[in-house]
Amino acid sequence: MRILLLEDDSRIARDITATLAAAGYTAEHQTDGEEGWFKGDTEDYDAIILDLGLPMLDGLTILKRWRANGRTMPVLVLTARGSWSERVEGIDSGADDYLPKPFRMEELLARLRAIVRRATGQSSPLLTLGSITLDTRQMRVSLDGVPVNLTPQEYRLFNYLMHHAGRVVPHTELIDHLYEHDSGKDANAIEVLIGRIRRKLGPDVIETRRGFGYIVEAKP
Ligand code: CA
Repeated sequence: MRILLLEDDSRIARDITATLAAAGYTAEHQTDGEEGWFKGDTEDYDAIILDLGLPMLDGLTILKRWRANGRTMPVLVLTARGSWSERVEGIDSGADDYLPKPFRMEELLARLRAIVRRATGQSSPLLTLGSITLDTRQMRVSLDGVPVNLTPQEYRLFNYLMHHAGRVVPHTELIDHLYEHDSGKDANAIEVLIGRIRRKLGPDVIETRRGFGYIVEAKP
């Protein structure tokens, strides 16, 4: 999952970036509102964490511009404590959720998981596919109730496909959402990971659609 963080407080940004990385997200950080707006407007993120007080362009204006331009990615707004008017305006401007500062990183992660889930049409933190269960809170996958040991990269890939179950996900989208920009990763890296996941979870768990991409789908 690829997350954009717009936050000009370097200490908070550092903490959030470290937390996101430890939780398996690919995070990009911008401090400048103008550049952050442009990134969010032109690139594809699974969610955006948006501080309202930013230099060059404030968070509410950024959010309104994204929504006016038809950008629908989930946005979690960071607000000053006790500022109910900021929260109301944030939600009215198209925020999916808000978090007052200061906050616990655990709560940030929980809210992030929830908005990503809702954006992809999932309502439970447990995603299931036949006899496979993926727990987004614990970052664990089990098969017939038995935990399966996936590496962080395998988990991230499978987690992304599970969130988009029923849809063919192209190679390029997987690379965009799983790796840092310019990481040099290509379709082969994805193929290798898919092969490993199939060995652990079963050969049919991920279907290859030649020339299109991959899909996970519940079989009737
Ligand atoms: Ca700020």
